[in-house]
Amino acid sequence: MTPSRALARVNLAAIERNCALLRSRIGDSTELCAVVKANGYGHGAVQTARAAQAGGAGWLAVAAAREAAELRAAGIGGPLLVLGALSGGELEVALDADADVVVWSAELAERASAGARARGIEVGVHLKLDVGMGRLGTRDPDELLAVGRRVLELPGLRLAGAMTHFPCADEDLALTRQQLAAFTAFGARLRELAPDLLLHAANSPAALGLAESRLDMVRCGIAIYGLDPWGRDPAEHGLEAALELRSHVAALKPIAPGQTVGYGATFTATEPGWIATLPIGYGDGFRRAFSNNGVALLGGRRRPLVGRVSMDNVCVDVGPDPGALRVGDPVVLIGAMGEERITAEELAALIGTINYEITTALSERVVWEYHVDGDPVDG
Ligand SMILES: *Cc1c(COP(=O)(O)O)cnc(C)c1O
Repeated sequence: MTPSRALARVNLAAIERNCALLRSRIGDSTELCAVVKANGYGHGAVQTARAAQAGGAGWLAVAAAREAAELRAAGIGGPLLVLGALSGGELEVALDADADVVVWSAELAERASAGARARGIEVGVHLKLDVGMGRLGTRDPDELLAVGRRVLELPGLRLAGAMTHFPCADEDLALTRQQLAAFTAFGARLRELAPDLLLHAANSPAALGLAESRLDMVRCGIAIYGLDPWGRDPAEHGLEAALELRSHVAALKPIAPGQTVGYGATFTATEPGWIATLPIGYGDGFRRAFSNNGVALLGGRRRPLVGRVSMDNVCVDVGPDPGALRVGDPVVLIGAMGEERITAEELAALIGTINYEITTALSERVVWEYHVDGDPVDG
């Protein structure tokens, strides 16, 4: 078997178990909405959505209308919410995908109503209150309540929910509680107009860390992939990372003192040693920031990356004695080899980012392989 240059293996059973775990934490009266935007945080939106539904997610959410269309084209049913702002054409795509949409102005409500009437459908609308994120939504609850009244009047619209999004649920629970109180006060007023609507606010850190924020539905992204919202060890919350990233040794050669590795010659050997070249680079979404600042598992050991990460290759210092290491041997960049493990959280910390960005960055050039606890499934 020819090893892939860069292989991402996703365990769909882990995603299913993470969802089932979240379901059991939040209880029966709260819905689980699995957030599969940005290609399922890099893991594959369609496969993730199916696994999340199998694990008990009753709702799915994406950021962009095209992402909703992609899920529907793959035959994925069930309630689906587009979280993001929608331009004219994007709104049409979202409505064609039978997705619910987020609204915070009368103008948006009117556009959604016109689109729904043109299609002879009813579209579910979720009003968005901005309690501190400062991006989408309306800050003034009175103004948003007036939008809610307009939604109730307009044909083709169903007031399905009200939502907010917390900016600091992973780091400031006192602030998040205040923001939650602002939202629930608004929600209580809105409920007088539409008793059946869903109130939802919690992302993964709120769903796991602030029980009272769960309301009628939680919108979990990072946690369903088994990644830790706080950037620590996902096992602390019983979560299981679904993704492994592997490559292999494409070349193995000695290096003498004074010889250099990579663009810019940023690494110069000071001792005689051996360099392994891995055929993965920033063209695969393996971030250039790992230049002289990364780690890989090969031959069962942790080894430093040396030189710059280039578009297609990166090099590893395997030390003075390569031992039994051979060209073609496996390399783990995220995941476990023997007793050693590299997590997306560890990589994120190395380059000053978050685990979200590590997996989302992985590109289509990577070979994606799906399995259920080791049994292959068709992608
Ligand atoms: C991405 C997103 C989420 C999910 O956040 P996680 O921290 O990944 O759980 C929830 N709600 C909104 C509005 C989002 O954009």
